[in-house]
Amino acid sequence: MSSKVAYIKDDNLTEICSNIPNVGDRGKLTHRLVEAYGLFKFMQVFPVKPASREDLITFHSQSYVDFLIEADEWSDYENREEDQEEYGLGYDCPLFTKVYKFASLVAGGSLTGAQLLVDGDADIAINWCGGWHHAQRDEAKGFCYVNDIVIAIQKLREKFDRVLYIDIDAHHGDGVENAFSSTSKVMTVSFHNYGLGFFPGSGAVNDVGFGAGRYYSVNVPLKDGVTDDQFSWLFTRVMDVVTNTFHCDAVVLQCGADCLTGDPVGTFNLTPHGMGACVKKVLTWKLPTLFLGGGGYNLTNTAKCWTFLTSIIVGKTLSSDIPDHTDFLRYGPDFDLEISAGLRKNSNTFSELNTIVDNITANLSNLP
Ligand SMILES: [Zn+2]
Repeated sequence: MSSKVAYIKDDNLTEICSNIPNVGDRGKLTHRLVEAYGLFKFMQVFPVKPASREDLITFHSQSYVDFLIEADEWSDYENREEDQEEYGLGYDCPLFTKVYKFASLVAGGSLTGAQLLVDGDADIAINWCGGWHHAQRDEAKGFCYVNDIVIAIQKLREKFDRVLYIDIDAHHGDGVENAFSSTSKVMTVSFHNYGLGFFPGSGAVNDVGFGAGRYYSVNVPLKDGVTDDQFSWLFTRVMDVVTNTFHCDAVVLQCGADCLTGDPVGTFNLTPHGMGACVKKVLTWKLPTLFLGGGGYNLTNTAKCWTFLTSIIVGKTLSSDIPDHTDFLRYGPDFDLEISAGLRKNSNTFSELNTIVDNITANLSNLP
């Protein structure tokens, strides 16, 4: 029996997400490309039910959420810098009008997906406008104002006892790891660039969580230029060890596309095929799964990548010729769905990757 796939698509959400620095209209680009390839025939589309204040405070502090509610109507941000700083707002998370409405829609997108899985209305839910993994309990951070992922995982846990969170964004999934670092019910696994000066600077292989959650945080630190071959090899090795140890009931995969070659922020050298190998691996488990977006600052590459991943999820093969549609000219000059790996120097050796796998295997051997 084929899986019931739900796709979260809401004009209010894509519109308001363009407020996030450097994200532009990539949500809209993605939905239109998915549509141009005819993939909506194989999925059920759902609008977003906005998250309530009660939903948001399943993770965020009441004072942070109430501050967003208060700031929703502001327009004179310059005169209120002190208040904003306390909550990480400003710099890479600037305030904008309707910030609370935004937070409620962003969290609502992933929460809607999680609810569909909990209710059994879908086996797989996709929300490419979600995946804001840096937001902390009482602080916006790294373009992330609200942690839709943590809130969605809290919802999943109403039905699924043990949830596995995997993050293949170029950056460490610190907000999600911190949220669950003391519990054995949610295992977080983050693959990321861990190098001098690379944001956020956390996620070493021996950062494993605390107390009851010790060894339930898994970190896979990489260097610049990692390739598809290395990444999919490593993903398979690490996830085999993880799933042999942690028997989960539901999965969340954050597919931040800033790990792709040519991303202006990321420094890896992956193509959508490298990420696709990870998606295929996750699908073999046949568990309720929520697929999320995340980073991805080359907008057309991000749209191509998430469209390609959607095709893998619904089990269809796409022509590499971008179909004629509203955004067609944005995909020039080659109008090709494929993205070729770049010439970036690869600083990761197979022997280093083997050592990472050995370290993770040793860490996880401490679990019952
Ligand atoms: Zn990122």
